[in-house]
Amino acid sequence: MTDHPIQITVLGSGTSSGVPTIGCTCAVCASLDPRDKRLRPSILIRYDGHTVLVDTTPDFRAQALRAGIERIDAILYTHSHADHILGLDDVRPLNYRQRQAIPIYAKEETLAVIRRVFQYAFDDAPTESSIPRLNLNTIDGEPFDLFGMQFTPIRLLHGKNEILGFRFGSAAYLTDHSEIPNDSKSKLQDLDVLFLDALRHRPHPTHSTVERSLGWVKELNPRRAYFTHICHDLAHESTEAAFPSHVHLAYDGLQIEVGREN
Ligand SMILES: [Zn+2]
Ligand SMILES: [Zn+2]
Ligand SMILES: [Zn+2]
Repeated sequence: MTDHPIQITVLGSGTSSGVPTIGCTCAVCASLDPRDKRLRPSILIRYDGHTVLVDTTPDFRAQALRAGIERIDAILYTHSHADHILGLDDVRPLNYRQRQAIPIYAKEETLAVIRRVFQYAFDDAPTESSIPRLNLNTIDGEPFDLFGMQFTPIRLLHGKNEILGFRFGSAAYLTDHSEIPNDSKSKLQDLDVLFLDALRHRPHPTHSTVERSLGWVKELNPRRAYFTHICHDLAHESTEAAFPSHVHLAYDGLQIEVGREN
């Protein structure tokens, strides 16, 4: 562990519909274990007094209040699905507090969807309402620097879509992947912490399963692994009990400290 650790907070560990799922009375949706209550998937990364958010879920307002977020210095996007972008309008109070636009970083096709969905924020038309103030930055496969730390985009397959995960320091956050291409695996060596998608046990066309992700943990050999984007098929306690001791299910509010270097 270095003198300048990175704090990761899991803001949401659930799949696109969240857990409990609307209208469902299954054992996990009815569970009293707080770790079985999963908002939509997102993490917060804090280092050197800076705060970087990955994705703005439909639950962003509740997540920000729960985590006591007072500022966001940058937002990274994995992809443009609704469960990863729809809370973007709720950065407005942070715009007022910070008195400046918030830079966002995403692939061009993700930015195109954000420009369309939040058109009122970008059309330069006079408005009587408050709008989120954002600076758009396109990223591709190249590493980029944010406040003195390098972020490396990790190319992932989400069904037929190509999306991004991110490596930073000795951690990597990968969600919404059904496949990890070989050229990406070479960027996932010597990790202290690896987040992986693990929707459920049954196969899904655009998401990983518990079994597939356990296989990737074996192959990539991080010191610790956390599974996220979890649906209501998986009860926290009984699912995790079957894992090796360095593999966990993430849960909302989980805080992890990782080193800047390996
Ligand atoms: Zn998702
Ligand atoms: Zn359920
Ligand atoms: Zn998705």
